[in-house]
Amino acid sequence: MQIMEHIKCLIIGGGPAGYTAAIYASRAALDPVLYEGMEPGGQLTTTTMVENYPGFPGGVDANKLMADMRQQAVLLGADIRRGAVTAVDFGVRPFHITVDGTVEIEADAVIIATGATARYLGLPSETKYRGLGVSACATCDGFFYRKKVVAVVGGGDTACEEASYLAGLCRKVYMIVRRDVLRASEAMQERVKNNEKIEILWNCNTQEILGDENGVTGARLLRKDGEVFDIAVDGFFLAIGHHPQSDLFAKWIDTDENGYIITDGVGSRTNVEGVFAAGDVQDPHYRQAINAAASGCRAALDAEKYLKK
Ligand code: NDP
Repeated sequence: MQIMEHIKCLIIGGGPAGYTAAIYASRAALDPVLYEGMEPGGQLTTTTMVENYPGFPGGVDANKLMADMRQQAVLLGADIRRGAVTAVDFGVRPFHITVDGTVEIEADAVIIATGATARYLGLPSETKYRGLGVSACATCDGFFYRKKVVAVVGGGDTACEEASYLAGLCRKVYMIVRRDVLRASEAMQERVKNNEKIEILWNCNTQEILGDENGVTGARLLRKDGEVFDIAVDGFFLAIGHHPQSDLFAKWIDTDENGYIITDGVGSRTNVEGVFAAGDVQDPHYRQAINAAASGCRAALDAEKYLKK
């Protein structure tokens, strides 16, 4: 195996965490190289307008925000490349990394910023209306449904939290729950059950998301007793879990039971010295671009300290 390149600071992942890490690492003269992976721009590119990222009083197009972050990193000297890391060996120094299955490189420090992906039901209509009424982030997109009727799929803490959040904005919120119980904690269950704007549709699965040229208009549900019925909604929110993109590192890096990388409290250090994690791959709770960006900053500062030791 021939090592083709030695990199001081390698960043894996092209979302807000990765790009911010690249901005800080460039300014710290760490000569960062960033591989963007399969989804340049990250999860934010699946939404449209971002109204809660500070600094943009009129909101900002999500793709433009990510393109600008990328551009800022490039202008400061980051080497941003297309390509996905396909294997790592954190048992050797320098660390050994394979890109796209063929390119062998080594790195002194690695920042993992591979993000997480929201789980979807897998319906063709869900793909068709993604960004046109279908969303996996109530905090990001709920604002667009003020005084409207929406549905949230799922019965976990996220679904309850998102339903409660949406109930503060919307006229009515349906929760579509596939069993006759919620998985969420007692406190969260009480919160949704006591909210008169939330109606829980028990034992229901979504067969189809309905819509027209303007986007989502409703959902067709199948109840366990065999009844098929439609509900009229303007927005359809998925809250059936996320999957952190940490599988590639599982052999080396400690994760929690859901696969989120464990870091040292507010810092970005993992159990392997010289490997840092930032963004949604290590954040099961907040999952916001601004938090991802902030943790990318922390990872770059931690990497700088490590490399200059
Ligand atoms: P969970 O895995 O806890 O819950 C997923 C929910 O989606 C379950 O109700 C599940 O149903 C349902 N579901 C899964 N697949 C489908 C499907 N194909 N169709 C319909 N429904 C489906 O995920 P969460 O994101 O809610 O939570 C992840 C972790 O984060 C948990 O540990 C949670 O406690 C934690 N969390 C904590 C919060 C807090 O403390 N404030 C806030 C948010 C999350 P079923 O129950 O039938 O499997």
